[in-house]
Amino acid sequence: MKVLVTGGAGYVGSLMSSKLHDAQHDVVVFDNLSTGKKKALPKSVTFYEGDIGDEKILNDIFQKESIEIVMHFAAKIQVGESVRKPDLYYRNNVAKVLHLLKTMLQHNCKKFIFSSTAAVYGEPQYLPIDEQHPVNPINPYGSSKLMLESILADYHKAFNMDCIILRYFNAAGAAIDGSVGEVQIKKQNLIPIVLDNFEHNRTTSIFGADWNTEDGSCIRDYIHIEDIVEAHAKAMEYLSRKNIFEIINLGSNSGVSVKEVISIISKITGRKIDTKENPRRRGDAAQLIASNEKAKRILGWKPVNSNIKDIIRSAYRWHFNRKY
Ligand code: UDP
Repeated sequence: MKVLVTGGAGYVGSLMSSKLHDAQHDVVVFDNLSTGKKKALPKSVTFYEGDIGDEKILNDIFQKESIEIVMHFAAKIQVGESVRKPDLYYRNNVAKVLHLLKTMLQHNCKKFIFSSTAAVYGEPQYLPIDEQHPVNPINPYGSSKLMLESILADYHKAFNMDCIILRYFNAAGAAIDGSVGEVQIKKQNLIPIVLDNFEHNRTTSIFGADWNTEDGSCIRDYIHIEDIVEAHAKAMEYLSRKNIFEIINLGSNSGVSVKEVISIISKITGRKIDTKENPRRRGDAAQLIASNEKAKRILGWKPVNSNIKDIIRSAYRWHFNRKY
């Protein structure tokens, strides 16, 4: 198939693009390189540099490339930043995407896979969180993703746009073959932050040790990017059917605390990790753990790389042996 991957030079998008390319699909990557890296992509992948809000480039791409399906990864993704700069999140994650959807419809491309997030659920009312769980985002990042989900539901009804919305829990790890990994200069997520602090002998902040959890630190469901990419491949197959609109969690069905992550990193590095207990971070929920029953049932997917030790080992290898 001819697949447009927005944000296809980024952390998850670049692994997706490489895997689609390996599976002989025709891949077109569109990325503004704000965080993504061209070096993360196979040389023969068609690449367009630009912003998803730029209708002119979008039109050029759709005119030239006969895109059959869009995988939409391009987004702002940091909870903390979204609280400080909500305008950035609503513009990038909602307003600009309307241009992409408009261009798709103009070119009769009506298959869309959307990278959404567990942040749409907010503070959980029960665990594990299934897709029926009420949505109530507690930060602008989650709100922006939920807004796009609602827009897609309406586009499905009005324009027959077939959509699969994948709500990622905590995407983590690096490609198993070491080719691709997290690329931000300023590390944004727990595992890369701890590894970076370890490398530079800095102390790691634990954002809140007074949460209502066993060890007082927040619990998250870490899901390996290899598993996320595999779910997208299965979603793409599923979208060959007609009249599809599905919302599906991507998680491992198990939770790990911040302190447990740090302790595993300490074991893998063979050194004690310096930590400091800091106040809670605004916009955080105590626990986020996915039910992945629907992904198993609908997509025939299950996570096979998401054991937390394997995730951290792959992230560690990437951190100290990155390719770009
Ligand atoms: N966290 C932390 N120290 C850090 C970075 C993150 O204690 O330096 C915590 C954060 O508060 C959250 C968990 O680690 O409970 C995962 O955070 P991350 O930003 O990686 O992902 P999020 O769950 O916000 O999407």
